[in-house]
Amino acid sequence: MGFDENHTHCSLLFEPGTALTVYPEDTPDLSQYVEFIVFFSGGKDSVACVLHLLELGVSPAKIEIHHHLIDGNEGKNFMDWPVTTDYCRKFAQAFGIRFVMTWRVGGFEREMLRENSPTAPVMVPQEDGTMVATGGKGPNGTRRKFPQACMDIQTRWCSGYTKIDVGARYLTSTARFHDGQKRLILTGERAEESPSRAKYETFFKHAKDKRHSKTSKRHLDHWRAVHRWSESEVWSIMERHGVNPHPAYWIGYSRCSCAGCIFVGNDNWATLKFIAPKMFNSIAAYETAFGMTMHRKLNVNQRADAGTVMPMAQRYGQIAMRKEYLEPILVSDWKLPTGAFKANGGKF
Ligand code: SF4
Repeated sequence: MGFDENHTHCSLLFEPGTALTVYPEDTPDLSQYVEFIVFFSGGKDSVACVLHLLELGVSPAKIEIHHHLIDGNEGKNFMDWPVTTDYCRKFAQAFGIRFVMTWRVGGFEREMLRENSPTAPVMVPQEDGTMVATGGKGPNGTRRKFPQACMDIQTRWCSGYTKIDVGARYLTSTARFHDGQKRLILTGERAEESPSRAKYETFFKHAKDKRHSKTSKRHLDHWRAVHRWSESEVWSIMERHGVNPHPAYWIGYSRCSCAGCIFVGNDNWATLKFIAPKMFNSIAAYETAFGMTMHRKLNVNQRADAGTVMPMAQRYGQIAMRKEYLEPILVSDWKLPTGAFKANGGKF
């Protein structure tokens, strides 16, 4: 495998019948970067970003798979699938790639319950492996409500507070990023997911770039590496590498978001109530306590009642609800999971 002399066209060859997706005009010159940090949820689009880098000839030694713990690191799963962190860790191990985690203390639930208090600090790893708290000294504020399912990131605060801001803190407070060398940050948003995502730029200077600083240069570019890919192209790259998708896709979810994502549909709520009643009831109890539902009109119990439990919920729900991922990451008899090409996970 390799690049042409302009380092823009991949010259990888595959067996007939497989497809390599490369949009050369979207692909930066990867040879200039010392490190590639993939913000990785465990969902298919983040998996595709890593596999795409590998197909483009990037050494696993230069890649970091970076996962944000939505529920923090205190052991409780309030919104996210318990298995997600270990699935991400084992995916990284399978490809010999470094795995790093960051999180906001207390995660989603603590931020949601904030009452006249500042948002919690973010835990960031140091070079020696220890974790250090940064931030947490902001102004007092009160939420006491779920994020609302809308495009306004202020109202839909969960992505910002549990992922985007956590990633930003990592980039600004990690010493090695201030050496002036070029680093590429990758995320897996795709245009097909929504009209607003379709308008996103594909390659640009990262929001936390400080390449022109006189004192501490931080050179960060941001590449949405699969922005133009279709869902079919994403599954195709997973098939080429034999990557077993996250259990959520096997249950029937079309997206591997939080288990209780504010965007999911009625069938997802019926399924979550069936496979994770404790988690479901805790979300339902907060809707009652806040006097405000996630959805504009219906509470999660009404939505579950209006939905149907997904057929594979029993078998794969158990896998998704374990903290340890015991299934193989790489399989030789790759199959499309149940949730592929279904819209029941909701589109943004
Ligand atoms: S997956 Fe859904 S609930 Fe979780 S952070 Fe993203 S938008 Fe919020």
